[in-house]
Amino acid sequence: MEAEQNRHFGDARFVLNPCSHLSPDDIAYFRSVLSPSSIVQDADDLETFNNDWLQKHRGQSKLVLKPSSTEEVSKTLKYCNDNMLAVVPQGGNTGLVGGSVPVFDEIVVSMSNMHSIRSFDPVSGALVCDAGCILEVLDKYLEQQGYIMPLDLGAKGSCHIGGNVSTNAGGLRLLRYGSLHGTVLGLEVVLPDGTILDNLSTLRKDNTGYDLKQLFIGSEGTLGIVTGVSILSPKRSRAVNVALVGLNSFDNVQAAFKRSKDELSEVLSAFEFWDKAAIQLVKDHLLAGANDPLESLHPFYVLIETSGSNKDHDDAKLTQYLEGLMNDDIVQDGVIAQDTTQIQNLWAIREGIPEACSKAGAVYKYDISMPVPVLYQAVEDMKNRLIQKNAIGESKLFTSVIGYGHVGDGNLHLNVAAHEYSKEATDLIEPYIFEWTAKHAGSVSAEHGLGISKNNHLHYSKSPSMIQLMKRFKQLIDPNEIMNPYKYLPDQ
Ligand SMILES: Cc1cc2nc3c(=O)[nH]c(=O)nc-3n(C[C@H](O)[C@H](O)[C@H](O)COP(=O)(O)OP(=O)(O)OC[C@H]3O[C@@H](n4cnc5c(N)ncnc54)[C@H](O)[C@@H]3O)c2cc1C
Repeated sequence: MEAEQNRHFGDARFVLNPCSHLSPDDIAYFRSVLSPSSIVQDADDLETFNNDWLQKHRGQSKLVLKPSSTEEVSKTLKYCNDNMLAVVPQGGNTGLVGGSVPVFDEIVVSMSNMHSIRSFDPVSGALVCDAGCILEVLDKYLEQQGYIMPLDLGAKGSCHIGGNVSTNAGGLRLLRYGSLHGTVLGLEVVLPDGTILDNLSTLRKDNTGYDLKQLFIGSEGTLGIVTGVSILSPKRSRAVNVALVGLNSFDNVQAAFKRSKDELSEVLSAFEFWDKAAIQLVKDHLLAGANDPLESLHPFYVLIETSGSNKDHDDAKLTQYLEGLMNDDIVQDGVIAQDTTQIQNLWAIREGIPEACSKAGAVYKYDISMPVPVLYQAVEDMKNRLIQKNAIGESKLFTSVIGYGHVGDGNLHLNVAAHEYSKEATDLIEPYIFEWTAKHAGSVSAEHGLGISKNNHLHYSKSPSMIQLMKRFKQLIDPNEIMNPYKYLPDQ
């Protein structure tokens, strides 16, 4: 066992927990419980598991395990716990806070071999599946049954439902269907000591005892590994409309949102916004399908989606709503998609923004929530700060400040594009942005989680007594601290 010691890694300083390093005996044990193809040791093959989606965080794991059943996960974790081997659970590795890759040489437990749909109830809409199912695959399966996944995000082609649950992902449908804290009916979780916590309930109502599943939703692999998910899927709407409008101020974005709640009310299913810098990046990087159909550039864009059961009724409502916005000069231009391809193309602009931002070089991502009236002020204040510091422009540290997000959920994605990641650049943005968020009664992580990027900023959004209780939960469930160490909770 390695003694506790301090190590430097990038900009951060960590106190290593006393976990062990791999030995030949460990590999021999894993070979005895997992199939040979479930054990990855080849240096090239390890690369993708060690690097995160942003190419910002990089681990040095020498071992990836891919269990195929809950029992295999249980045997794996029990052995790791008994032998003090640190573990990083990994889903689709699309997380944006560095939570899914090792910090040092932790063992990666990838859920990619657990991808079966266990059951679907066409009366209630309860879907029970393995944690490694890809979100888009589940949505396509449900489409055939006339149902829909209650969440959707740009990473749907890669992210796992287990990863979604573990990050409490929000995404594009939260406005309509609410958060996973409401739609997840039950979970199967393997605790660090190998205990299988079987709570794959399909009940909508169950007031028997503490609702333990809630503790694992959003716990980012720090308390155990989610192996199964039971989730309530709503009926898929027969009529879907999507409109894109251009606006000249964020006040008008808010006015359009307020009216949409009045006039579209029960059929409103998404209200997403982005700014001129975001559309410029999407255009610059020519993302497939993401062509801006509006004639000129606008300071702001809003994508509005309605989902209902009667097309004529929804068409009439949306048209009347948009005409009202035009007549009152709230929007300057707009289009309504005429078919499924056009709907997909409008969504491709919105969903392409994170990818376009990542192609710009290095991107500092802040996923903050706050009252809607001050949402865009965060972008303007950040831009002004960087101008004052003479730090933004072609030959400067930063190239642009981009704002987009889920207006309906009060969630801003503030992206600051730079030529490269550096301490100098980080220090110009942080802790300024976290202090700004706390001052405006916001959260420093609305939906992406804490991982290793935000764990030490938790105190901006949670009180000392709440953080203390979180640490006690962690100590109770994972006393050896083998689960996703160095992340989620503050170092001190
Ligand atoms: C293009 C793009 C768009 C995105 N859009 C959104 C968005 O709109 N809304 C949003 O909320 N997020 C968004 N994200 C972030 C990301 O996709 C989500 O956080 C997603 O839920 C992560 O799922 P994953 O399977 O990739 O998990 P990973 O990235 O593999 O892991 C994320 C965290 O969960 C843990 N984990 C993963 N699987 C398990 C498991 N089975 N048991 C226990 N712990 C586990 C990991 O250890 C890690 O801490 C986006 C990302 C990209 C790249």
